[in-house]
Amino acid sequence: MIVTQFQIVGRDLFARGLVSSHAGSLSIRLGDRIIITRRGSMMNCLQDSDLIETGVSRNNRFTPLASPELPVHRSIYKQTQALAIVHAHPPHSTALSIIGSEIAPINTEYQCILGKVPVVGFKPESNVKDLASEIAGALKAQQRIVMVRGHGSFAIGQLLEEAYSFTSVLEESSHVIWLLKSLQYGQAAQSTL
Ligand SMILES: [Zn+2]
Repeated sequence: MIVTQFQIVGRDLFARGLVSSHAGSLSIRLGDRIIITRRGSMMNCLQDSDLIETGVSRNNRFTPLASPELPVHRSIYKQTQALAIVHAHPPHSTALSIIGSEIAPINTEYQCILGKVPVVGFKPESNVKDLASEIAGALKAQQRIVMVRGHGSFAIGQLLEEAYSFTSVLEESSHVIWLLKSLQYGQAAQSTL
């Protein structure tokens, strides 16, 4: 059952705090079709009616019901070999995306999995219209996940579960970086006492 894949990943994304109640989007590609979560669906309890089928390139009567992130999902499918996409709002990664142009995991195992994760839309002159192709362009260049500055992540895989695992690894890495930054801040503050 296709819906089961969506339910497992959606529930886990919400349980781990990687999306708020009605945020994020998931999709899979089946040939020239996309199955994507519905606009405003609750990630924690996805049902059959929350899955919208539309075209990779063509609209149909269901397209207006799809997640507002559909243009990004389409752009990624057109430019990469991805068969699944997970879009989430991981909090530590999102915070780091505001202060740097890439996120480099400290853990070597995670470095091997993710490399340095680029932040797109980082430059103030970035055009929102170009963001979809900028995200897809970064994922095309051998990346498994990218961050959109101050917004969230887009991860790709052959399965939803695979794209979800990259999201989870990135957020864990970002959390560690965040903790290290806090410790450094703590040490600096103590030395001034
Ligand atoms: Zn979003």
